[in-house]
Amino acid sequence: MALINDNFLKLPGSSYCPDITKKANAFKLVHPNAKIINLGNSDVSLPLSKEVIHAMLKATEEMSQAVSFKGYGPEQGYRFLIDKIIKFDYESRKISLDPDEVFISNGSKSDIANFGEILSKDNRIAVMDLAFPVYVDSNVIGCRAGEPGSDGRWNNIYYIPCTSDTDFIPELPLQKVDIVYLCFPNNPTGAALNKSQLKVWVDYAIKNNVLILFDAAYEAFITDSNVPHSIYEIKGAKKVAVEFKSFSKSAGFTGARCGYTVVPKELIAFSKMDGTPVMLNELWKRRQLTKFNGTPYIIQKAVEAIYSPKGREEVNQLVEYYKTNARYLRESLEGVGLKVFGGINSPFVWFKAPNGLSSWKMFERLLYEVNITGTPGVKFGPGGEGYIRLSALNDQNEIIEVKERLSKWKP
Ligand code: PLP
Repeated sequence: MALINDNFLKLPGSSYCPDITKKANAFKLVHPNAKIINLGNSDVSLPLSKEVIHAMLKATEEMSQAVSFKGYGPEQGYRFLIDKIIKFDYESRKISLDPDEVFISNGSKSDIANFGEILSKDNRIAVMDLAFPVYVDSNVIGCRAGEPGSDGRWNNIYYIPCTSDTDFIPELPLQKVDIVYLCFPNNPTGAALNKSQLKVWVDYAIKNNVLILFDAAYEAFITDSNVPHSIYEIKGAKKVAVEFKSFSKSAGFTGARCGYTVVPKELIAFSKMDGTPVMLNELWKRRQLTKFNGTPYIIQKAVEAIYSPKGREEVNQLVEYYKTNARYLRESLEGVGLKVFGGINSPFVWFKAPNGLSSWKMFERLLYEVNITGTPGVKFGPGGEGYIRLSALNDQNEIIEVKERLSKWKP
């Protein structure tokens, strides 16, 4: 008799969309003429840029000829892309990386979720109280979370307080933990850590032998010059941090799928059996060799194109478009007197519901009164109660309409 991994049964609903969609659909039934604008989704709206499509078509053509056809590629990714990543994303910031330290993936979600596989179940993990659900869910599946409590928190996870008192900047854990998930610029709050704030975390990790899993999926949206684009801009970070990056939001690859993970060779963890130090880089390589056969050549060629002069210009335009959207959202919400966070170094705008309203009550008011859907803050953890996240990754005409609607609204 086959037994299942019972941890799957403990997981909350697998996505944060169904109940949002259900409420929006119910409203639409009663108000068929209402034009609902969905700012609750974090998918992009702009298509892939011209250079990317051109490279994709060229690579597709190569696949049609025996001489240029590519079968299985290197599991870790093609050197043509790894070298561009190192040159443009790291060397330009005075960070040196060995090609063996970069692993191309089909998006960062799977790498973030899978990384736990090379780490012992006995590690105590810490997550920010407001977090991308994958961090907690993958640890539930991997038997590290313990049991869910009535407050929505798991009893073996340390929740790092992130509140408006500190502008959603996390405070160092007060208990012993082994692994910390950090996400900056943050989804959902839009908060970003400046260099000295990130240094506090790196120094803490070095001193306490903690592994940082650093999710930098929204790095391309950084505007402030004192916000680091990589955790490795901080001295010593290579000894304590893995960095996950994604081309989904910066270059529109949510559907085409590509990201990468940096696992420095200096990063060491220890065997439970006898305390032997082990390079996480070697372990992750071993894991990928067994379970991953690489990101498609056509996709890696398409991503390579974003590092060409024209490709970089096009990608910058995409990011600027969404940043303008974020500014419109921020200004509109502030204009009607709401307390707003994020939207400067991130495509997410996070606002507080007035008069102590719950996240879901505020969600309903937005839907019923201005026909806009956002994401209730509680979807990202109990600390999100009373907040709503709006995404700026939408079509700009829709955002302009949202601006119009909000300007006449009295929240
Ligand atoms: N990390 C964060 C914080 C995200 O919000 C997302 C996607 O929404 C991801 C990682 C995953 O991105 P992808 O798998 O598309 O690369």
